[in-house]
Order: sequence, then structure tokens, then C-alpha cells
Amino acid sequence: MLNIAPAGAASDLDGKTPGGVYLCQVGPAISCGACCGLYNIQHLSRENLTHLLKGRTQRFARVPRTIEAIDRFGEETLGAEGRHRPMKNFHHCPFLGLIGPQQTTVGCLLHPRADGNKGIDWRGLSYYGAYACATYFCPTCRELAPRYKRMVRQAVDNWYDYGLMITETGMLKTFFEQVEKRLERTVDATDLEGRPAAMAVVQRFLAIKHTWPFADPETFRPANFFFNQKEYAPPAIDFKAPGAETSRWAPVLTALWSNLADWQALCAAESFLDRMAGDLSAALAAPPLPPR
Ligand code: SF4
Ligand code: SF4
Repeated sequence: MLNIAPAGAASDLDGKTPGGVYLCQVGPAISCGACCGLYNIQHLSRENLTHLLKGRTQRFARVPRTIEAIDRFGEETLGAEGRHRPMKNFHHCPFLGLIGPQQTTVGCLLHPRADGNKGIDWRGLSYYGAYACATYFCPTCRELAPRYKRMVRQAVDNWYDYGLMITETGMLKTFFEQVEKRLERTVDATDLEGRPAAMAVVQRFLAIKHTWPFADPETFRPANFFFNQKEYAPPAIDFKAPGAETSRWAPVLTALWSNLADWQALCAAESFLDRMAGDLSAALAAPPLPPR
């Protein structure tokens, strides 16, 4: 993820991003580090991740900018935080921290624009190396329709949900397609203007990894492995109901590691998602509030 710009500069980079909508840094408190392995930690929670990122940022501020000192920081960080990963072949970068004037944006501590680096790009010291860090873009950038990317960018209210969900191309596509089907038109970010109720439903969908009642607690892993290799993909759902594999919600049900033992469970899970799509389409069909 070069992919780092000063906070608030997202729209400036739209023209340079594959797929035309810049997703990596969206605003002062909304950004993503999923491709740097942000979520590939044990005991994943917003609180734990925030604690790790804050600690690294504070310690890195005191690190002299030399190759030896930066290497040592990386090693010590991984040593202290533990090297065991839920996805062992997916690197978790110890140089992810918090950047920006208020240090509220998840980002790269080695980036030339990060505090203390004085324009020097230290990403060559990372596992992936400077070129990969500067040029990688995840499949969502190319594969998700720009209007859906804009909807997410407009509605999201925290970095934790954003990074967990923005790589879920199939989930986002399926959800917004279901909404469009109900409305019989396409949706875009401008539809959210003056519609706080619609924003709230999109935020509810973006938080679904913590609220999904049909996940299998034994196997559920919120972090997405979105690279071409399917090494850590969720298992195909063993739908017990005949024809259930063709569910209109199949990509969402699968990505949420759903445990659907029978036809009733499938219907309940589909209804849960139908209600959310229905709530969003109703909120988008309502007239917008007048500007204040
Ligand atoms: S996972 Fe995608 S959106 Fe997130 S930082 Fe990487 S390229 Fe950007
Ligand atoms: S150095 Fe680490 S945090 Fe920075 S862009 Fe590369 S992988 Fe991401």
C-alpha cells in the first residue's frame, strides 16, 4: 500500500488509481492496511489493534532513521507482539502504525511522508520491498464497480470496519446489487447526501463481520485473504437445502463463514440480509433531508 497519501487527499488520487476510485486513504480516520497484513493477528479486535498501532507509532518516533535501527525496530516489534499468525503465509508488517496530524490514520511508518522520515522512503527495508509497497492495489480496486466504492467511502465511519470490508469484493457487489434490484435503478454516493438513515444502514452492513449471527464460531476468521491464491478462502458452505447453493446471497453467506445446518437456517440468514437490503433501499427511496 503506497498507496498512502496525506489524509483527505483521496479524491486527488482517483485518476491515478486502478478502477478510478482511491481506496487506501479516505480521510483523517478512515484508511486501510489490509494488504500489509493489518488484520492477520491473533486476538483480533479493534481495541487490540489500536493498542498495537499506537504503541508502534510511539516507539518508532524515537527510532533513529538508520537501516540498523529500523531493522531492529521491525524485529523487536514482531518478537514482542508474537509471530504466530492465523494465516501463516500472509505477512503482517510491523511498520504499520498511525499517521497523519492526529495520528488517527492507519498507515505506513516507513513512507516518505510519514512523521520523522523527512521525505526518505524507507519501505525498501520491509518484507515486500519499496516497489511492491508503492504499486500494489488489491482486487477491489479493479473489480468493484466505482459507484459501490464511492458508496462505501462516503458512508464508512471507522477504519477498522473499512479495512475488514473493503477487500470483500463479492460481499459488497452482492449487497449493493440487491439494493439496486429493489430500487430498480443504480445507486451512488450522491444518494447518501441528506439521508443519514441510509448512511446508517451502509455502516450496519460494513460492521456485519462482528454482528453476523450465523457464523461458525469454531472456524470464523474475519480477516480476508484476497490474493489470487485461495489458500485461506472460507470453506464452501455445505448447504443442506436442495438448490440453496444458488442463493442470491451466496457470496455473502460464504464470506461470512456461515454455518447453515438446514433449510430453516438458510431462510433465516437470507431474511437477515434481505431486511438490511430492504432497509437501505427504503432509506434511499425517501426524500433527502433539506440542507442545514
Ligand atoms: S487492501 Fe486495497 S484498499 Fe487496502 S490498502 Fe491495500 S490496496 Fe489499498
Ligand atoms: S512497509 Fe509495511 S506498512 Fe509500509 S506499505 Fe510496505 S507492507 Fe505496508
